[in-house]
Amino acid sequence: MADTKMLAIAEKFALEGTIAEIKALGDGFINDTFIVKTEGDTPNYILQRKNHQIFPDVPGMMDNIQRVTTHIKAKVAAAGGDPMREVLTVVPAKDGALYYKDGDNYWAVCTFIEGSITHDVADTPRLAFMGGKGIGKFQAQLADFTEPLAEVIKGFHNIRWRFQQWDEALAADKAGRKAELATEIEWIESRREKMLAFWEMVEDGRLPMRVTHNDTKLSNILFDQNDEVLCVIDLDTVMSSTSLNDFGDAIRSYTNTGAEDDEDLSRVSMNIETFKHYTAGYLSERCASMTETEKEWLAFSALYITYEQVLRFLMDYIDGDTYYKTRYPKHNLVRTAAQYKLLTSMEEQYPEMQKIVKELAK
Ligand code: ATP
Ligand code: MG
Repeated sequence: MADTKMLAIAEKFALEGTIAEIKALGDGFINDTFIVKTEGDTPNYILQRKNHQIFPDVPGMMDNIQRVTTHIKAKVAAAGGDPMREVLTVVPAKDGALYYKDGDNYWAVCTFIEGSITHDVADTPRLAFMGGKGIGKFQAQLADFTEPLAEVIKGFHNIRWRFQQWDEALAADKAGRKAELATEIEWIESRREKMLAFWEMVEDGRLPMRVTHNDTKLSNILFDQNDEVLCVIDLDTVMSSTSLNDFGDAIRSYTNTGAEDDEDLSRVSMNIETFKHYTAGYLSERCASMTETEKEWLAFSALYITYEQVLRFLMDYIDGDTYYKTRYPKHNLVRTAAQYKLLTSMEEQYPEMQKIVKELAK
């Protein structure tokens, strides 16, 4: 039997069938996820409490998800696929809204895709390839999407905006740490122009606006029983930007041979083989819909996103550790050094990365 409070929430939605059971599913970082099982042959559902702290505009977010999934559904149907399995299906509330608001909490529902599998870590070449393929396919299906999307997280990956915050953080020097950070600050300043020049291409349209997923981890891709990509899930952070951001962020996390906060810098580097597999998967789906400029700057996006992360960790350390949760006093500084090591490893291997992209994009 389902808890009466949860049952009351689930019943606000236009579900088919009779609810048999509501169970918590895993321990998501961001949202609280439940599976709603119904009796007999009617579909099961995923019920999520959306994190309103992180997402101030849940209605805008759900509208984004609805637009994007509707677009993909038409693509899947046209290709002869199964529109109920190869893309998420949003289930509205009985009043027609895409969410139900209960006090301060927002709830949303989508159809549960039966028999799907997720993977936590890309520890084989095939999984790195499939991770790239999943995101590449998602972006390819949305390459002709032109509707406006709500900006659910302000200034995401916008380095011009980050530099504004950075300059303010340095001027304020809230924690009095600036004096001892000359070396680290120079890491940021010496690359400022180059990073801004990349973002300028997004601002002036040389790099086109596309739908970006913005949380490209492998566990956000559902696979079928044959371990082929079904669809990308966790669409809360879908927004408009350069699609290169998704590629760059995936490379930052997939290819790191160490941990994001590794204290032993000798463990941290970019694994070029993983880069190659991810890129091959990504381009296998996405290459045909990319512009020449996108191909040219694809590899650079990994440096850009990693640089941004160095800046954000260092800025939080300068601010006195107010944004990222820290486990020990210098945690943010350790993260800064580890991401910087990864950045320099990418910089050293950049000619090779470019060569790989060129080969695979032929
Ligand atoms: P995290 O922070 O771990 O990414 P989250 O709170 O953002 O989690 P989701 O990624 O949306 O939540 O979903 C959590 C898990 O629930 C997924 O990894 C997947 O296993 C399962 N899941 C989500 N949606 C579906 C679906 N439509 N069909 C089948 N399983 C699903
Ligand atoms: Mg997820």
